[in-house]
Amino acid sequence: MKLTAPILLFLFLVLGTIAPKKAFSQYRIKDVVSTSKGDLEIMVVGHCFYYFKFNRLNIYVDPIPNVGDISMLPKADLILVTHDHRDHLSTNVIQLLSKYDTKVIASKACIKKMDFGEFLENGQQTTFKELYIKAVAAYNVVNLRPDDIPYHPKGEGNGYFLVFGDKTVYIAGDTEYIDEMRFFMKPDIAFIPMMMPFTMDEDMFVKVAKKLNPKILYPVHYNSQLDSLVEKIKVALPATEVRIR
Ligand code: ZN
Ligand code: ZN
Repeated sequence: MKLTAPILLFLFLVLGTIAPKKAFSQYRIKDVVSTSKGDLEIMVVGHCFYYFKFNRLNIYVDPIPNVGDISMLPKADLILVTHDHRDHLSTNVIQLLSKYDTKVIASKACIKKMDFGEFLENGQQTTFKELYIKAVAAYNVVNLRPDDIPYHPKGEGNGYFLVFGDKTVYIAGDTEYIDEMRFFMKPDIAFIPMMMPFTMDEDMFVKVAKKLNPKILYPVHYNSQLDSLVEKIKVALPATEVRIR
């Protein structure tokens, strides 16, 4: 068969639209949670890099390199960044995932480094399409650097609450148990970090989990076995489903 221009165009369109979807569907485990406004698909790409698909919206949190093949992922409608540490902020990956109208929301320090996007400070809220977004505090109290400066100083980084229909998702960012958590919304789904000395140890993690009491809990940002953490969560919160991804 001679590859005429119409045939080449046909092949380009077919392969260009089908091939990435197939590869993407095989990429990682996707969890699906139903909400009052449609299904929410959730994928932990790696570390604190998450992908949410909600109706037609593709949403990323803290996209970074070296945790997966970014070329497999669809372009973003919305990208959220919690703080400017290298394991959370990659301007390069944000640009690779962006299209002409991608909205980027991050902490003030991230926006300064990237020179694009919009910042939210702790306590500020906004909406994007049908999504409600609130930035909340994320910082260290107990775990300090050798020079006594917190790894995550108060007011610099964000956690986020995202509301998808009737489901609330809490993305903790890098934080410890903090007083502000007493006033947080009760999340259906929570992403909580565990890594010393930057965030929390097991016992503090359990304290946060008990305070927030999510229905589904994703431990993230970890560099150790989670068996004993999972056992502690089972005892403290028997109704909570722990998802290790
Ligand atoms: Zn950090
Ligand atoms: Zn981190």
